[in-house]
Amino acid sequence: MSTVTYNAIGYAAKTTSAPLAPLPFNRREPRPDDVAIEVMYCGVCHSDIHQVNNDWGFAVYPVMPGHEIVGKVTAIGSDVTQYKVGDLVGVGCMVDSCRECSACKEDLEQYCLEGFTQTYGSPDRIDGTTTMGGYSDSIVVREAFVVRIPENLDPASAAPLLCAGITTYSPLQHYGVEPGDKVGILGMGGLGHMGIKFAKAMGAEVTLFTRSEAKAAEARRQGADHVIVSTDAEQMKAAAGHFDFLLDTIPVKHDLNPYLETLRFDGVHILVGLIEPIEPALDAFNLVFKRRVLAGSLIGGIAETQEMLDFSAEHGITCDIEMLDIKNINEAFERVVKGDVKYRFVIDMKTLKA
Ligand code: NDP
Ligand code: ZN
Repeated sequence: MSTVTYNAIGYAAKTTSAPLAPLPFNRREPRPDDVAIEVMYCGVCHSDIHQVNNDWGFAVYPVMPGHEIVGKVTAIGSDVTQYKVGDLVGVGCMVDSCRECSACKEDLEQYCLEGFTQTYGSPDRIDGTTTMGGYSDSIVVREAFVVRIPENLDPASAAPLLCAGITTYSPLQHYGVEPGDKVGILGMGGLGHMGIKFAKAMGAEVTLFTRSEAKAAEARRQGADHVIVSTDAEQMKAAAGHFDFLLDTIPVKHDLNPYLETLRFDGVHILVGLIEPIEPALDAFNLVFKRRVLAGSLIGGIAETQEMLDFSAEHGITCDIEMLDIKNINEAFERVVKGDVKYRFVIDMKTLKA
């Protein structure tokens, strides 16, 4: 009888209905352009839950989630020039792309024409094995997809910047949010609370749209100037024609029409939370008569992720986190769905070894 030995361990879901459980597996030896990383912290993104539940229909099991990774470099391939053993680094939602198409050449790897390689649940471009994410003790990633964590950021609170941070920073930058612009953030969860911080740091006048009155004080503490309770039709009506930009992080189907009406003419409603058909139907009147734009945005490129980390370091921005023992990951998923976390769980990977 032969015994197989595995060099890594993580938490994975074996099927759609299965809870996450420990799974020993193999990480590849670093290739010449690879960086091997000991994972110290990994954020828990709502996308991890969507993927484990196969909400988007493209999950590949076993799913080992985790794309908000911070850790220490433990080994480098012979061609690696940017990192050395001991460096504090980050890995976000992408671990590879074709790096030759027009999108990749513009540093927009997330829009790679061949499709980027996701940190988990994608076939590796060289050996075809399914990528496994950061709910694990280690990860091996191509150097070009590794970023540097600035020294003055707390490593645990910086982990969610790798997805929640870049996903909110990138569209605000792309649409050129400037001092004085009126920006509405829809939903205050992991992404939303980062959206408030970034929009504020860019000089905008920031309003949180939330379902819960109870979050108002908290939102102001995060930097919001105003709060609108989205379930109060009067408050929504009073905001008609007001905003330049809306950043919509709501993770489920919701009526966009009342929000569109709060945009001024030429205003832009940017979807980042919704990755499914829009229901109820969009009334095109709300777009046409005010030349409004309905847009979408996906994470951000690697160079922009580094820029966002440096911006965060400069402005003292990190995520508000609750540290998590990986043994409680299934309960944490339930709490994220209920909105019962302020505002991101981060797994302390020491608990995996314990
Ligand atoms: P969270 O669960 O942390 O936050 C979502 C927030 O949306 C909640 O806090 C809540 O805010 C609001 N919300 C939740 N349910 C409802 C509902 N039924 N109706 C109205 N509002 C609701 O999720 P994340 O911030 O981690 O992720 C948000 C979404 O963004 C997910 O769908 C995720 O998959 C997606 N995502 C997209 C990315 C991209 O590149 N486009 C990258 C990363 C994530 P409140 O209580 O204030 O109303
Ligand atoms: Zn994410």
